Amino acid sequence: MSAFTVIPSSRAALPPTRENRHLIGGSWRDSVDGATFERGSPSHGVVVSRSARGGATEAEAAIAAARTAFDDGHWSRISGKERASLLLKVADLIERNVERIALIETLESGKPITQARGEIAGAADLWRYAAALARTVAGDSHNALGEAILAVVLKEPIGVVSIITPWNFPFWILSQKLPFALAAGCTCVVKPSEMTPSTTVLLGELLIEGGLPAGVVNIVLGYGQPVGSTMTAHPAVDMVTFTGSTVVGRSIARTASDSLKKVALELGGKNPQVVFPDADIDGAADAVTFGVYFNVGQCCNSGSRIIVHEDIAADFTARVAALSSRVAFGDPLDPATQVGAIVTAEHNARIDGHVRAARAAGAEIVVGGDRLDVPGLGNQFYQPTVLRNVTSEMAIAREEVFGPVLTVLTFRTFDEAVTLANAADYGLSAGVWSDDAHTCLAFARQARAGTVWTNTWMDGFPEVTFGGVKQSGRGREIGRYGLEEFLEVKSLVMRVGRTRDPWVRAA
Ligand code: NDP
Repeated sequence: MSAFTVIPSSRAALPPTRENRHLIGGSWRDSVDGATFERGSPSHGVVVSRSARGGATEAEAAIAAARTAFDDGHWSRISGKERASLLLKVADLIERNVERIALIETLESGKPITQARGEIAGAADLWRYAAALARTVAGDSHNALGEAILAVVLKEPIGVVSIITPWNFPFWILSQKLPFALAAGCTCVVKPSEMTPSTTVLLGELLIEGGLPAGVVNIVLGYGQPVGSTMTAHPAVDMVTFTGSTVVGRSIARTASDSLKKVALELGGKNPQVVFPDADIDGAADAVTFGVYFNVGQCCNSGSRIIVHEDIAADFTARVAALSSRVAFGDPLDPATQVGAIVTAEHNARIDGHVRAARAAGAEIVVGGDRLDVPGLGNQFYQPTVLRNVTSEMAIAREEVFGPVLTVLTFRTFDEAVTLANAADYGLSAGVWSDDAHTCLAFARQARAGTVWTNTWMDGFPEVTFGGVKQSGRGREIGRYGLEEFLEVKSLVMRVGRTRDPWVRAA
């Protein structure tokens, strides 16, 4: 009998292969050379979608369409109220299509269907929140510069935005960016990961159904090279917003700097959770378990590193190990499943490589540590894995594994906990568990992270901005700051009356 809770194949009926095309200037197009690529389901093996494979030609056409749409003002210069009304329509359409979108999201990404449904419904709320923000765009006024001068600082849409998204939360991450860019009045070119193109195309269909003017949102399907790189380098693009690996993020920042365009990056994480002995241990163990296995650990916010006080480390680790074996891993189409498949066989091998290297370096496996067989679906799954005897020098404590792998480190003093928590190149999020508010606040102030959770993990709201420090990125998404990223500032200085002293002396 397996030591894990495994949900075998539910033998659910699978939909026919989807055909995806680029959306350029309001029309659906194949690639000029007719090239296509396929995405096979990580869990079910079947071909989920066949998509037009774009090249520089399609990327350039999409950028030109976005540029024209921005410059003609049909979107960039209409009122916030009009933009909000369209975003609200899209939110309604997303809600009406949750089931359809969630099914494709699940089949392409391998995530559980219940999670996908939650993400799509949650994304509708992001569109609604961005709609509310569309009506708040405002700058400053300066009425104290003397009688002859009135100055205002305007907020204007930054222009054409390239949006490059990854495969782990295709619809959610797009919805952290696109409605905010649209609320600001920008026009966009979107490139989803080649592993998960379909739900971005489905969103494109809803945008057209909702009445978005042609060219305001364009979608190009294909690979980072050459589609993403063209979207990054092109001089007609004003900003690039990217979520993905730190390696690609760095390369995007380098390329974009040639044309000095703005770059927003949401990259990786090696996020610590510090557990003090006075914490609600049951609550912390459950949240740690959720934090590491959610989306099978393929999550920039994965709580992959726990730092536990040595007095409770053995008990706490045992609790997390016991909970690990009760989490339902298996068929993503079964509503009982909590954790699904790994995105590709190559990535599964990479996760396994991290675990093997950690063992070789002296880490001890408490639970898991190998691929997981799911009856009827094969082994593109990974066991819930907990490693102890880990030191902060080991690669496993520093590198992003992007899999269901938890490392346990221990501490004795508060200062040591802070040092360990900050001992990573990343700085996306951090957590602290203690019943003492002073401990939580002191930790929160010293943690070098974009988000700190106290006595909770991964709670997020459209209102609360998100982003990283250090190698986790730059810029912020969602919340008020998420809108600001897509706004440019212009100062307007006005003379009141004909009061200006002449610069040239009278002859
Ligand atoms: P990448 O960073 O390679 O991909 C993210 C997106 O960027 C994809 O759409 C990709 O296109 C595109 N891209 C790739 N190269 C370029 C380029 N030169 N210019 C512009 N765009 C480009 O992530 P991977 O999918 O390869 O995942 C690798 C690792 O990255 C993971 O194991 C994980 O550690 C991390 N990651 C972090 C994420 C996060 O949420 N912060 C999300 C995903 C990954 P395409 O893949 O279609 O070629």
